[in-house]
Amino acid sequence: MKQKFCSLRGMRDILPGESALWQQLEGVAREVFGRFGFEEIRTPIVEETALFERGVGEDTEVVGKEMYQFLDKGGRDISLRPEGTASAARAYIEHAVHQKEPVSKWFYTGPMFRYERMKTGRYRQFHQLGAEVFGIAEPKQDAELIELAFAFLKKLGIENVRLELNSLGDADCRRRFSEKTRAYFSTHRHVLTEELQKTLERNPIRLLDSKEEVMAPLIAAAPVLLEHLDEASLEHFEELQRLLRLSAVEFTLNPRLVRGLDYYARTAFEIVADDALLGTASTLCGGGRYDGLLEQLGGPCVPAVGFAMGLERLCLLLGANTQPEPRGPLLFLADAGGGDEAWKLLSRLRKGGLAVEADLRGGSVKSQLKRAHKLGAQYCIVLGEAELQTGRAKLKDMRSSTEREIALEELEGILR
Ligand code: AMP
Repeated sequence: MKQKFCSLRGMRDILPGESALWQQLEGVAREVFGRFGFEEIRTPIVEETALFERGVGEDTEVVGKEMYQFLDKGGRDISLRPEGTASAARAYIEHAVHQKEPVSKWFYTGPMFRYERMKTGRYRQFHQLGAEVFGIAEPKQDAELIELAFAFLKKLGIENVRLELNSLGDADCRRRFSEKTRAYFSTHRHVLTEELQKTLERNPIRLLDSKEEVMAPLIAAAPVLLEHLDEASLEHFEELQRLLRLSAVEFTLNPRLVRGLDYYARTAFEIVADDALLGTASTLCGGGRYDGLLEQLGGPCVPAVGFAMGLERLCLLLGANTQPEPRGPLLFLADAGGGDEAWKLLSRLRKGGLAVEADLRGGSVKSQLKRAHKLGAQYCIVLGEAELQTGRAKLKDMRSSTEREIALEELEGILR
């Protein structure tokens, strides 16, 4: 029996009908991110596993449980990237970019991989559009990034979203708060599952965004990070809020927003769309500041801030309302016995840079014209012996169903 192959669970094909929507998304991203001064970077999809362990955090779900990690043929421990920031930071350090320019504004788009439980809006291969800024510690940069995310969504026509904001304080503040949280949850250890007890030992702050039912009442009474912020982080956070108000960006404070990745410090934010199309996968964008990340990876002491958006979720939202413009060929050449001359004309027009289609299966003129309609061709020409002998043919405008006679020699000029 022949084996039937399917794509792996959680990994989707994007077929031509859908890829038009993706191209539209990527086009808008290039335009809007470019307008904000961001340049594109492209990094490899696989990296040393240790980069993610050190950069994202060994104890995070993303690295600890969900990475596609394997040994290559040389016995190197490598992983498919689960997110883009660690790779961007690695590239920044490797190329000593801070010695070349004081500020770098980068964006990237591409597939990420996480071995997650599949549901709507949650896949094992998914695509992120991310932005990273290196070299600016001021809250204005956090605000600019948030504005960029909103400008992008708005340009796509996605406006029914809300911004949630929190501050995680500096590294010291986080350490102190982590101990406080550990002490608090330790008094409730008996109700925690084994898994939650492990998190309590390794990364107690993560318990604050646990979705487990037993945790809800405990979380409600847990210490609140915003009340324990260090002074400088508090000032940073207040200034960010002031700047957002100035540019009329609405937000709500969410003191439970801790984000799943370890590298965040100070600002953390999420943009959420409450739309039934997304099910529980309602977070479109997550980001924040990670001033200590570069140093942690052996790089210079350069502040950084960024975000990432999930493109599948944007497609889910857009797919319902958007029908990308069909882009058929400019001209369809129907061959009614034109033979080699028709073939040569097709070649000549394409070499000249025109979008021309023909039905290479041949067949009746009627079936060829049907194909021209299906492709959405703008014009059509039927080439038979008579046309080739006289050098004249009828150029049919497929939309208005009108036609006019032209000299084949003038065809290119007319189409242009
Ligand atoms: P994160 O890197 O976890 O902060 O995620 C940033 C954004 O990427 C999320 O807000 C989602 O839009 C998207 N995302 C994360 N994980 C997945 C996934 N498994 N499938 C689809 N999108 C995802």
